[in-house]
Amino acid sequence: MTVAASSPRFRCGYAALVGRPNVGKSTLLNALVGHKLSIVTPRPQTTRHRILGVLTSPQAQIAFLDTPGLHARASRALNKAMNRTATAALEGADLAVLVVEAAKWMPDDELALERVALTAHPAIVAVNKIDRVRPRERLLPYLGEIAARHAFLAIVPVSALKAENIEALRDAIAAHLPLAPALFPEDELTDRGLPFRIAEMIREKLTLELNQEVPYGIAVEVERLTVEGHQLMVDAAIWVDREGQKPIVIGARGERLKRVGRSARLALNEMLQQRLHLNLWVKVRENWADNARALRELGLE
Ligand code: GDP
Ligand code: MG
Repeated sequence: MTVAASSPRFRCGYAALVGRPNVGKSTLLNALVGHKLSIVTPRPQTTRHRILGVLTSPQAQIAFLDTPGLHARASRALNKAMNRTATAALEGADLAVLVVEAAKWMPDDELALERVALTAHPAIVAVNKIDRVRPRERLLPYLGEIAARHAFLAIVPVSALKAENIEALRDAIAAHLPLAPALFPEDELTDRGLPFRIAEMIREKLTLELNQEVPYGIAVEVERLTVEGHQLMVDAAIWVDREGQKPIVIGARGERLKRVGRSARLALNEMLQQRLHLNLWVKVRENWADNARALRELGLE
């Protein structure tokens, strides 16, 4: 560890990124840390787990926590578990970063803000997707409304997608963390192992391929991971919750599954700087998203 990391002015703590689904929390985590740690799709409720991303500088170490989107109408066991995961990460954090979308305020934003207020943690707002607001002055009344809603320590407009103002958000977060020595070795990036990161990448590519309801009924599990020479050999199961979804995932003549396998393999080659061979198997577990035991087995509880 560097000398700075043990200095009395060093700051360190957990900053939870919370908010309603689809505001760009995962894109923001990746931009803040500078690595793709969390999967991103245009669909709400893509993130199902708490994802840790650690960023260490000479002055501070920020342990960012990406979380599932908080949403009011969580009917299935999976959605309830996702809300619990987000709330638990928030409660255990030192600082809340409420992520909202520029010029939008919806009932689930209100729900997320209520959760933040309940913790009484210091809180910062990241107003994301400012690239969509033209001209920029249109943002000003919105920023005023946000300031009136809660005693936020800072309101930082950003674009996670275009990497705009990310540095300012990082600095605002670091400045409000407790004075404390580093929690993680400085080269540590996340607490998730290879099987998890591979499964998530497959789920991202699959979600991008599928329409409407199907992605919500899908889970991916790496069942076998071995090294042969310089190559990783991966067997992964794609769990669907109804027999009828199997042909949708596989596609005509297996085309869709092949495309998913190909794009996941390319993205993983790049991410891991290693060649890998991917075998995907589509399997049925009836109503897994509403089955507490299946959720536990898939690491979702
Ligand atoms: P999450 O559900 O809050 O984690 O949101 P994601 O990070 O998965 O992003 C949801 C969608 O919003 C994706 O299509 C992202 O590409 C998009 N998105 C995220 N950040 C921005 C941004 O700054 N600007 C724009 N235009 N889109 C964004
Ligand atoms: Mg997400």
